[in-house]
Amino acid sequence: MKALVFHGPGKKAWEEVATPTIIDDTDAIVRVDAVTICGTDLHILKGDVPEVTDGRILGHEAVGTVESVGAGVKTVKPGDRVLVSCITACGACRFCRERRYGQCLGGGGWILGHLIDGTQAEYVRVPFADTSTYLVPAGVSDEAVLMVADILPTSYEVGALNGQVTPGDVVAVVGAGPIGLSAILGARLYSPSHVVALDLADSRLDAAKQFGADVTINPKTEDAEAIVKGLTGGLGADVSIEAVGTPEAFELTVRLARAGGHIANIGVHGKPATLHLEDLWIKDVTITTGLVDTYSTPTFLRLLAGHQLDASKFVTHHFRLDQFMDAYDVFGRAGETGALKVVLTRNGS
Ligand SMILES: [Zn+2]
Ligand SMILES: [Zn+2]
Repeated sequence: MKALVFHGPGKKAWEEVATPTIIDDTDAIVRVDAVTICGTDLHILKGDVPEVTDGRILGHEAVGTVESVGAGVKTVKPGDRVLVSCITACGACRFCRERRYGQCLGGGGWILGHLIDGTQAEYVRVPFADTSTYLVPAGVSDEAVLMVADILPTSYEVGALNGQVTPGDVVAVVGAGPIGLSAILGARLYSPSHVVALDLADSRLDAAKQFGADVTINPKTEDAEAIVKGLTGGLGADVSIEAVGTPEAFELTVRLARAGGHIANIGVHGKPATLHLEDLWIKDVTITTGLVDTYSTPTFLRLLAGHQLDASKFVTHHFRLDQFMDAYDVFGRAGETGALKVVLTRNGS
């Protein structure tokens, strides 16, 4: 089969590799029908994730059709249409029993396209298939479901839920890429009074408006703290969400929060950020971090099946699987191309 293979920082190729086979009896082999590229894949290609080694097939999001299953798999069978989640769960370790699947100790967690071969391929081996795949509801498109593989649960769990958004809150979202936009959707499920989106790119602020931001701020040209204070009687945001992964963005996110507020970090950070305890010690703030656990995946599948959420609006570009190198180019230059999520399918539609 063909797959997108990582060959060290800055190097990747769409090339012929061995087709995966069942190794453990809890495995499924899934034919990839739709797959996308994550910002995390760009971090890997920059060399920010050294655990990913030469020869690894990238990708941790897919929708596909089950080809074969091991003898121990009970809930999916060949021919089933499934979502392959970014998080794999053994289902039995302490963290899985506590719903913290992202921290799985039994061989799961974020492994696809990281510690084992991933989904940017014609076929993928999915360990612990019973607890790591989800049947796709009828009447929902592959590309909409694909957004549930990572960005929707990630922004909802690590942003909106960790940040404890409640009705009437003013929610600031720093960064309006796919994760920030998804955090806007997730926060809106809790009826905030205002969602404020911040980004350095005006094109992304336009996208934020389409995803439900009430106020947009470009911190390059506007005084973000003054605008947020103006919306909150001088206090600051009830919930402030970081969706970039840079020290500057994290520090801005913290400055935007009110006393007693919640600061939820979603961004993947490669460098230290300064925690200004000299300001914060007296402010009663709660700062949370996290990797997605994907316990909200069934919730999102029901929201999609009930037509309560339009996830396909994330998708700006379509490609065929054999155009993977072009897709990376377009996604990697999102500032110029306006790419949010790119979707690659077997037939390109
Ligand atoms: Zn991802
Ligand atoms: Zn586990």
